[in-house]
Amino acid sequence: MVRTCDYPGCSNKDVADSPQSFHRFPVTDVALRKLWVLVLGIHVDTKVEKIKKLRVCSAHFSDDDFLSTCPGQRQMKKRILKKSAVPAPQVNKTVTTDRAPSITKIMRDRERG
Ligand SMILES: [Zn+2]
Repeated sequence: MVRTCDYPGCSNKDVADSPQSFHRFPVTDVALRKLWVLVLGIHVDTKVEKIKKLRVCSAHFSDDDFLSTCPGQRQMKKRILKKSAVPAPQVNKTVTTDRAPSITKIMRDRERG
């Protein structure tokens, strides 16, 4: 079975020649996981067991979200996300009003450190 990206509206597939790398949710970091859940529009009470199975492709992250790889390494599959990386919030979709401010707030708090 071919795995697809679980980001809403994204149909990138995790196939051998995919230009995208696929990344798991940060299950050990509860605060960070909550942020991913908010960004993807998943219900906050979704069980961790279910969240563990979700994958988000590299299209939703910026280059800064990945650990730098050796020069010349073009293997996208080997890309490793930084521990603090969060998928980019959806831009083409109406975000419910109670969610949008909280994402913005958490993002801001993170930047402050
Ligand atoms: Zn995707």
